[in-house]
Amino acid sequence: MSSVSVKNVRKNYGNLEVVHGINLTIEDGAFVVLLGPSGCGKSTLLRMIAGLETVTAGDIEIAGKRVNNVHPKDRNIAMVFQNYALYAHMKVRDNMSFSLLLAKKPQSEIDEKVAWAAKILNLEPYLDRYPRELSGGQRQRVAMGRAIVRNPAVFLFDEPLSNLDAKLRVQMRTEIKELHDRLKTTTVYVTHDQIEAMTMADKIVILRDGYIEQEGSPLEVYDKPANLFVAEFIGSPSMNLLKGEVRADGVLLGEGTVLPLPPVHKAKLGQKVVYGIRPEHLAVGVKGTPAKVVVVEPTGPEMHIYADMGGQEICAITQDRLSLTRDQMIELMPRLDKVHLFDVEGGKALV
Ligand code: ADP
Repeated sequence: MSSVSVKNVRKNYGNLEVVHGINLTIEDGAFVVLLGPSGCGKSTLLRMIAGLETVTAGDIEIAGKRVNNVHPKDRNIAMVFQNYALYAHMKVRDNMSFSLLLAKKPQSEIDEKVAWAAKILNLEPYLDRYPRELSGGQRQRVAMGRAIVRNPAVFLFDEPLSNLDAKLRVQMRTEIKELHDRLKTTTVYVTHDQIEAMTMADKIVILRDGYIEQEGSPLEVYDKPANLFVAEFIGSPSMNLLKGEVRADGVLLGEGTVLPLPPVHKAKLGQKVVYGIRPEHLAVGVKGTPAKVVVVEPTGPEMHIYADMGGQEICAITQDRLSLTRDQMIELMPRLDKVHLFDVEGGKALV
């Protein structure tokens, strides 16, 4: 097992710099998710760790050793891709044993490792099938099997679940996490899906345009987003973000509508801010700030109420079975300890 260090790493494609001096430490045995929208540089960073892309500047270290010039096959890593990259003409058993065969391991060790991986991944009944005879989830498991038989120092996953349907994605999410709990191999996992990141990671690293916006445990980035970008990116439905101005009695949204301030904050009187409150932290019907119902969406366990508050859209979630109709006036009361304020300029958190 090994840690991974990314030190001041930059990446240029031609004259264009797409990764701008990233510093990141991935502790031994950790499950770290690189999360961000398409094009933010997640895959490029992962591929530099793997050695599939060169590093323009800075250093990558695996287990304390600089690997910038080490060939991918000598980095002791295993990568799992979105498209599985299985050998179509080989049976599952041969797909899983191939790298061990190349490494000239004795047949008895290969058989033992493949049997072990097949058991862990529930692939025992499929060892003599070809990839085309498997479902998407089974193929993804074979790709993981191929990675784990090598007992690498680091697993690298590049959007491994993107090609699966929603239900299977949820199931495979759990399987990958269980596998990590069992093997404790240092893992770097790339996704643009914030729920995947929240449910699987020990640490989430949120990237935008080749910079790190924030890193922390899933609940840290959920509860204390450092800026507007993270606040908006993490959470579904996303945090309500309403523009307003700080007054003595609260944040004025317009049309005389005021939302109450949190007990402690760094905003100044008259400052233009974005008021952030998650839908689950708004109590419906309690005395609060008036809003007009636009749409109500029952999901079963809860109701999502979309309303107009001072000309801006706001969403509240409740588990109560309220009977509300369009244009009905309601009152929404934020939990004050859950209110976020962000500077309009630059988007930094002010709470
Ligand atoms: P992500 O994985 O977050 O979607 P990528 O790491 O694939 O993002 O890409 C980061 C940026 O680098 C994007 O702007 C992308 O267009 C650019 N890029 C990626 N690969 C290449 C390449 N081979 N040549 C030129 N630009 C590239």
